[in-house]
Amino acid sequence: GAPTNFFCTTQEDIQQLLKPRRKFSHKGMYGHALLLCGGYGKMGAAVLAARACLRSGVGLLTVQVPQAGYSILQTAVPEAMTLTDKNRRHLSELPQGVEKYDVIGVGPGIGTERVTKTAIGQLLATSSHPLVIDADAINLIAASEKLKAQLYKKKLIFTPHPKEFERLVGKVKNDYDRLQHLREFCMEYKCYVALKGSHTAIGTPEGKVYFNTTGNPGMATGGTGDVLTGIITALVGQQYTLEEACRLGVYVHGLAADLALQTVGEIAMTASDVIDHLPRAFLHLT
Ligand code: AMP
Ligand code: MG
Repeated sequence: GAPTNFFCTTQEDIQQLLKPRRKFSHKGMYGHALLLCGGYGKMGAAVLAARACLRSGVGLLTVQVPQAGYSILQTAVPEAMTLTDKNRRHLSELPQGVEKYDVIGVGPGIGTERVTKTAIGQLLATSSHPLVIDADAINLIAASEKLKAQLYKKKLIFTPHPKEFERLVGKVKNDYDRLQHLREFCMEYKCYVALKGSHTAIGTPEGKVYFNTTGNPGMATGGTGDVLTGIITALVGQQYTLEEACRLGVYVHGLAADLALQTVGEIAMTASDVIDHLPRAFLHLT
């Protein structure tokens, strides 16, 4: 591809994207998001994604977790409505009335059990929602030609780290080759991919790539990716376009971590610190 396909997202770009909340608005106007996250021993992923989603302006949030996660989620995230899967430990089904949600975020902490693969197949088959697909949901899709064949004509955002991305597209030779695979994947499936890393690269269906300019090595710790899933899910719910949600979400996620440097520094930083600095990050942009 020509070099003109590559762009850098600046703070001015982001400030122009950010929509103010309207005075006479109510929670029904900021989207009802559904998160399908968490599993036995990985409920933290659901808690982090849910908290980040709520800190990113979503109107209403429902989280479906396996039965074993019910009291964990309800206690850790009182603002979220909680549904339980019939399965004790794993995602195995879609909630009833799945049509009513404005966006679905899926993947953090779900594992790769067979029942979970079936549920992802149902999600791709039955829903016309925008989907934010991360972590083990990516791994399950990557390992199944049948699931891959269901990716066409959907509104999809993938948020892989480099290893998950390679599972999706095959081994990459070098950094440039990775970007070429990013563009080809996005053009093939007409989807968006936020390929995470030190400079997260966002691919679009037109073959454009936006590089992010925020973030720091303090983010190289478990759970920060789950936070990003929650943020982007909230933004899609608020009617940002998929491209806007990716660019704004990735930027504000990194900015929150940059602001966290002042109080916790790189070494001690946790994913929860990134969430705790989302309020300051959004304030910084308004
Ligand atoms: P995950 O691997 O899914 O937990 O996602 C990790 C998150 O942290 C992604 O948003 C990455 O972009 C970010 N991250 C990890 N390492 C770095 C780094 N060295 N510099 C900036 N951001 C990073
Ligand atoms: Mg992750």
